[in-house]
Amino acid sequence: MPKDRLLDVLERYEAVIGLEIHTEITAADTKMFCGCPVAFGGEPNTRVCPVCLGMPGALPVPNEAAIEWTVLAGLATECDIALWSQFHRKQYFYPDMPKDYQISQYDLPFCSGGVIDVEVDGPGVAERLDLGGGVAADGPTPVAEDGGYRVPIGITRIHLEEDTGKMVHVGGSEGRIAGATHSLVDFNRAGTPLMELVSEPDIRTPEEARRFAQKLRSIWLALGVSDCSMEEGSMRVDGNVSIRPRGRAEFGTKTEIKNMNSFKALHDALAYEIVRQADLLDAGEAVVQETRHWDATARRTSGLRSKEEAHDYRYFPEPDMVPFSFEPQWIASLAARLPELPDARRDRYMAEYVLPKADATMLAADTATGCYFDAAVEIAGADRAKQVANWMLGDLTAHLNAAGIAIGEARVTPAMLAELIGLVEDGAISGKQAKQVFAEAAGTGDAPGAIVEARGMKQVSDTGAIETVAEAVLAAHPDEVASYRAGKTAVIGFFVGQVMREMRGQGNPAVVNEVLLRLLG
Ligand code: ADP
Ligand code: ZN
Ligand code: MG
Repeated sequence: MPKDRLLDVLERYEAVIGLEIHTEITAADTKMFCGCPVAFGGEPNTRVCPVCLGMPGALPVPNEAAIEWTVLAGLATECDIALWSQFHRKQYFYPDMPKDYQISQYDLPFCSGGVIDVEVDGPGVAERLDLGGGVAADGPTPVAEDGGYRVPIGITRIHLEEDTGKMVHVGGSEGRIAGATHSLVDFNRAGTPLMELVSEPDIRTPEEARRFAQKLRSIWLALGVSDCSMEEGSMRVDGNVSIRPRGRAEFGTKTEIKNMNSFKALHDALAYEIVRQADLLDAGEAVVQETRHWDATARRTSGLRSKEEAHDYRYFPEPDMVPFSFEPQWIASLAARLPELPDARRDRYMAEYVLPKADATMLAADTATGCYFDAAVEIAGADRAKQVANWMLGDLTAHLNAAGIAIGEARVTPAMLAELIGLVEDGAISGKQAKQVFAEAAGTGDAPGAIVEARGMKQVSDTGAIETVAEAVLAAHPDEVASYRAGKTAVIGFFVGQVMREMRGQGNPAVVNEVLLRLLG
């Protein structure tokens, strides 16, 4: 679907989007109601016990750490934390749920009424057609510096539940049941603590939905609550979307889209669905409330099943567990544990080090990167923060991507990066040499100073030594000297090259340039 189809539709219809985001609390060592370990993969049905297999008579014991993580998640997103809360049983029959009910939360979630500020800049701004005049008080605020805007998106609730097992449909295409010969079930994941966040229907464009999910992921990563892998399914985003003619107050009928395993898929699936709904309405047909599946290969959604209503689930209070009553002091002690969140970190980098917003945002996106930056700046000095940022976003990021490793696994430590920057800034090595030193340090873990020493790389900045070589070069090329003096000043590049070659690349280019200019008069 071409992008302008979406923009064309959005001129006539306003999209209304609400997200439901499930995140496995991978930081919890054990499952939600039993002592089985939480981990991805592994031999099927090896991390199970009578509780997570739903054996009759097995009793659930709530995981305190998982509840703490959920409350922390709520505090990080400005939710109110319930002082009185409870688990409910949600009944449904599906083979991935051995008990035939899921322990979840209903009308008493742990967290409710939060908000996340979402910022949109770049091409995605075009999807928001009501920017500019007539913006509502709770609507988008333009952000002048980058031509983007900021909009608050409400969080209805965050509740805690147990994850289901995993079905494997053997022979089905794209892992779906259609065409499968038989199905297998793996209960290793069953019972993993799962937070479900439900947003208000405040999102108006696919780009806002993408930014919301990305923002949430960076907050969860900063907290350390989950590894948030959309590929492995530890973070799963469902999109609810409807459209209404511009200017109408009532919402249209929504569909819910599942199976989007990347941020791009989330954006593209919502865009597809908005256009599909508009085509239906334009043809005088109605949107059917249903759950739809995003097929990333075909790039389309297709109907999956009609949507259940809450009363279909026959929710009732979990009788095997008493309700929870939380002390305000307990909540305050958790609030004191909140780390610096990505937005605050980004703002600090912009204010303290005058970094451009794009750089600050990338460095603050996850705690490991932010801590690396902070540690390197601590050693290198605040006046070299820009160089630290450049190295991190340049050579270091390229190295991490090429090696497929996380920043915490890099052999170049913050102290080593600070040392390398010091060598360049003090003129001991050139910028070009520094790149070689970085590459070697990244491979061997050797200290930059030691590498420079061992390779005899020290840059020569001594004017006398450079002068001797420069004089010899000029003497050997009288024709070029003549044409320089006749006005062909571009020949200077040739001389610099010759001097550098004589000095095996170790001359300080700035000094070489300066000496040549002086000798040539
Ligand atoms: P359901 O009862 O169908 O599960 P909810 O009211 O619980 O619906 O909302 C589920 C999600 O759908 C929430 O994120 C909410 O913001 C969003 N939502 C609700 N109504 C609409 C609508 N008309 N269009 C788009 N999203 C909606
Ligand atoms: Zn178990
Ligand atoms: Mg609902």
